[in-house]
Amino acid sequence: MKNETKCLHSGYTPENGAPRVMPIYQSTTYRFNSTDEIGDVFNDPTKAHIYTRFTNPTVDVVEKKIADLENGVAAMCTSSGQMASLMSILNLCHAGDSFISSSSIYGGTLNLFAVTLKKLGIECIFVDVDSSQEEILSAVKPNTKAVFGETLTNPSLQVLDIERFANAAHKAGIPLIVDNTFPTPILCRPIEHGADIVIHSTSKYMDGHALQVGGVIVDSGKFDFTNGKFPDFTEPDDSYHGTIYTKDYSFAPYIIKARMQLMRDFGAYPSGNSGFLLNLGLETLAVRMKRYCENAQKMAEYFVSTGKFDEVRYPGLFSDKYYNLAQKYLPNGQSGVISLTVKGGKKAAVKFMDGLKMASNEVHVADIRTCVLHPASATHRQLTDEQLIACGINPGLVRFSVGLENIDDIIEDVENSLKNI
Ligand SMILES: *Cc1c(COP(=O)(O)O)cnc(C)c1O
Repeated sequence: MKNETKCLHSGYTPENGAPRVMPIYQSTTYRFNSTDEIGDVFNDPTKAHIYTRFTNPTVDVVEKKIADLENGVAAMCTSSGQMASLMSILNLCHAGDSFISSSSIYGGTLNLFAVTLKKLGIECIFVDVDSSQEEILSAVKPNTKAVFGETLTNPSLQVLDIERFANAAHKAGIPLIVDNTFPTPILCRPIEHGADIVIHSTSKYMDGHALQVGGVIVDSGKFDFTNGKFPDFTEPDDSYHGTIYTKDYSFAPYIIKARMQLMRDFGAYPSGNSGFLLNLGLETLAVRMKRYCENAQKMAEYFVSTGKFDEVRYPGLFSDKYYNLAQKYLPNGQSGVISLTVKGGKKAAVKFMDGLKMASNEVHVADIRTCVLHPASATHRQLTDEQLIACGINPGLVRFSVGLENIDDIIEDVENSLKNI
């Protein structure tokens, strides 16, 4: 099936007379006929659901659908995108280990990696998103267990050269994890370019309607964890009756281990109701992504034409630094977010945003409705103008997240606001 079809049909095929739509299984637990049967399920947790702290039938449908959309073999939903990022690393790194990350990543991920994981004894080694293979390899240490990057970065809209990062990771014998939140599998499937693990904040385009925070981790099933660097995968797990993940679950050792160790112990799993809502978003994902891309391309061209911006960053613009990489990795559209630097700095940016009537001022992105965020006033408000510039955020920067409204209405809203600047 093609992705448009997978959005509607993957994960759930109703049997004769069963509900056409996957029902909400809002139950913490599952009943078995005997103690032996429960024992069997503990022996092989892929056989049945045990407890909603780490499996649920409604969420399972969503996991199968997302795995299928990404061309992976298995997936695990999490309660937020942050939890997906955290677990993707904790499944590979212990205290005393390190991993490499592109420094162009979402701010929340950056803080998690640089501050919180450091407190847990895991070191993140940052490299530039434009690093060569040699530069990435030279950052690898004997205790380095993974490489991490973001396909299309939030909010700076840089495009990761997935193949280059994957080649470097594989030369070092470690997997590449890619955060594919902004493109979604409709615009890019990182596994096809060599990524081993893909994660998402489903709070963005996948959910699509700004209803619910969530995340997901997808396992390509391709990485060879038996290369000697990952004893947690190849030696018996005493905390799970001696399971050897690469032997007992060779089809998807990464995701089974994440579920049976991390999700079991941390319990950051969505409810059945959450799975149902996410599935609803996924059903229309392909249709929505197409429209986001069309609207964003037109808006980006319009913004350039006004002459009111020092910079309009959108990788679908021919003049953009990442245009060529976007043509390679995002040939069918570059998603719906545009980075704008308003002429006149912070004051002008605030005036522009407050002058918008339809587009909403909110701490979100990838909403179904057009929304804007001014990092200097919101997520980075503690910084002075000098500090903002030092960390790559121009005080006049506005993140413009194009919605699905009629393009003429979005342009009219912007046009009216720009008259005052
Ligand atoms: C929002 C976001 C996250 C974090 O996800 P939450 O669902 O808000 O926890 C991670 N990565 C990217 C690229 C994001 O945009």
